Amino acid sequence: MSCTVCRLPFVPGPASANPRPIPPGILNERQYRYFAYGLGIGYQIIGVVNPVEYLEHKLDSNMFAVRAGLPLLDMIQWESHGGTVSPSHKYPRETTAKQSKFVICHTVCGALLRRTTHAEEDSVDSLTDLVELERILGRPQAGSQAGRFRHVKYEDVRCGKLKRVDLTPFWLDGNEEGGNTFDFQSLKASNLGFILNRPDTFPKFHETVNPDRLRSLDNATVTKDVITNLPTDVLESLVIRMETPAYVQFASSCRLLRRHAVTAWQRHARSRVLELGWAVPLSSEYEQGKKQGIVMANAKESPADADWLLYLSHVHRTQSMNVREWIWGLCQEIKRARDALRPDSEVAEIVVDGERRKSPSRLGLEKQVGPMSSMFQQIKQAQNMAKQR
Ligand SMILES: [Zn+2]
Repeated sequence: MSCTVCRLPFVPGPASANPRPIPPGILNERQYRYFAYGLGIGYQIIGVVNPVEYLEHKLDSNMFAVRAGLPLLDMIQWESHGGTVSPSHKYPRETTAKQSKFVICHTVCGALLRRTTHAEEDSVDSLTDLVELERILGRPQAGSQAGRFRHVKYEDVRCGKLKRVDLTPFWLDGNEEGGNTFDFQSLKASNLGFILNRPDTFPKFHETVNPDRLRSLDNATVTKDVITNLPTDVLESLVIRMETPAYVQFASSCRLLRRHAVTAWQRHARSRVLELGWAVPLSSEYEQGKKQGIVMANAKESPADADWLLYLSHVHRTQSMNVREWIWGLCQEIKRARDALRPDSEVAEIVVDGERRKSPSRLGLEKQVGPMSSMFQQIKQAQNMAKQR
């Protein structure tokens, strides 16, 4: 019941028959909702990549329901000691442990993993790139190593001011298969408690600079120092070369520079925000926010002279964004491990008669991914037609 990207747990969704409740006062309703759902990735899942809900039942723990807008599309079991298995193929275990492998992660973790690994399309090639992860890194582990990929240095990824994040002490190995539990209370009481914040709570985005903010910068006193008396184009070429923390500090060092920063230099703040990769909502998050009337930052639609400087400063300060940046870092680390190991893996390209070709293993995986993906497309089409009737 842990996420392969962040290794935080899932909590029982509303359809759980026998949920193990988590201690009260740990998660609010919105956080709880976030941790109950995720994204399943595997060639045996219909659609290959599909939203899942975590379920807890009395006899079969660690179950995920694949719904994708339907009453029930599929069920998968996760993190048993014998491997991650699909109940429909549960026995013999020796076989299923080898054949049935899934990656399951929280919704944002999965979306950022797809972004980081350039696998956001629903094409066979892109979906195979995602499924291929467990061929290269091995099956996610069980028990106290819950969800963890081997070879990925999870602990070395920074989160906010913390240089290391080790969740291993909070995972307790249960006696029965899939019986591992997460010690929410100890996490909450530790200096890591803030990582339970949702990574999709973005700072408020202001499409214009607040007039009061501008007024307070009027009539900046003329100074005689060398920096502020430099021609503006020279100053600008100086700030372009600065690292973001230095830039933010520099821009706030006097009223004249601050005025430049909140007016003509907003475009530089915008580039810095967009370069971060994690700091603006993904298109799905943006569209959802738009439907709810929330103003969010967007590369295409947000004005270039919006208050990007304020936004840049806030994305580094809020706990939710610290968590999002951490998840982004974890996805980069998974990609690093994948890229390092891929050339020696079974899916690496092979050279035949001097030509580079896909390996039989990669081609085999594509053959498995193709029908599962197109089957889901057909189901969706049929569903849409039924709705239109
Ligand atoms: Zn996660």
